[in-house]
Amino acid sequence: TRPHIAVLGSTNMDLVAYVAKAPQRGETVTGREFRTLPGGKGANQAVAAARAGATVAMIGAVGNDPFGTQLRSALDHSGVDTDLLRTVEGQSGTAHIVVDDDGGNAIVVIPGANATLTALSAGDKAEIASAAALLLQLEVPLEGVLAAARTAREHGVRTLLTPAPAQPLPPELLAATDLLLPNEHEAAALTGITDPAAAARALLSQVPEVVVTLGAAGSLYAARGAEPVTVPARRVTAVDTTGAGDTFAGALAVALCEGKSLPGALSWASAASALAVRRPGASTSMPYRSEIDAEAGATA
Ligand code: ATP
Repeated sequence: TRPHIAVLGSTNMDLVAYVAKAPQRGETVTGREFRTLPGGKGANQAVAAARAGATVAMIGAVGNDPFGTQLRSALDHSGVDTDLLRTVEGQSGTAHIVVDDDGGNAIVVIPGANATLTALSAGDKAEIASAAALLLQLEVPLEGVLAAARTAREHGVRTLLTPAPAQPLPPELLAATDLLLPNEHEAAALTGITDPAAAARALLSQVPEVVVTLGAAGSLYAARGAEPVTVPARRVTAVDTTGAGDTFAGALAVALCEGKSLPGALSWASAASALAVRRPGASTSMPYRSEIDAEAGATA
């Protein structure tokens, strides 16, 4: 049977301009291409987990604008349950992204409807209570994230928190988190420690398990009472790393719900994200279960 995963988080339309060189302040440049791509860390993790083999419900909010309709239908098409995705008055969340030829980017995120996610409905609570795992990130208000984590804790639901964008976290949120999943920059921002292993060790005073993702260098996990262990990434030619972290989070949650050990789950998640970075796009590049199993088996 497929594991049941709840996601509470953001849904954004990514508005991406591709240019040779990003404009300086006051400058206008002619770009090459424009794309609108469904995104937002919450929605991305939901799509990743659904494709990796879970039954996924998305708790979030879109606006009553055309983007809202498109974002909802993109999730529906990926098999994510959108019954708890509210449509609210106003604009959907947007991310305005300029990507230059060196692969560098500059991003403005406008939360829009995501900012309304400050409290849970009875339906949201029931959904979280019945899930095997809850996936959280920080692109929606902390009150909403905290309410979800509290509900999960009350019902013994395993909570994975991606602390992005990096910000100071209330101790109560960390206390209700089972696995904290920062990238190396977020781990450094949370602890003031640049060495990822040392940062992970420091975070263990607040959460029982920490996984720090290190891009092409793989990931590192730390649990109380054991030395941190590094899991290498697969050697691949990266085409677009956008959404690598969200693919990793979604696949990791599925593997853990299916009873894989943490090292086994990390290796499976790194196979999933290796597939994602080989293809352009964020959620569009996320791999399906059969592809992940084949990739994981191929080099396991
Ligand atoms: P993003 O914000 O772009 O979604 P992130 O910073 O949250 O990503 P990363 O640490 O960059 O997350 O990547 C997550 C995982 O994806 C890594 O642990 C690794 O397994 C895989 N990965 C990322 N980049 C590469 C790469 N170039 N080659 C192979 N695997 C990669």
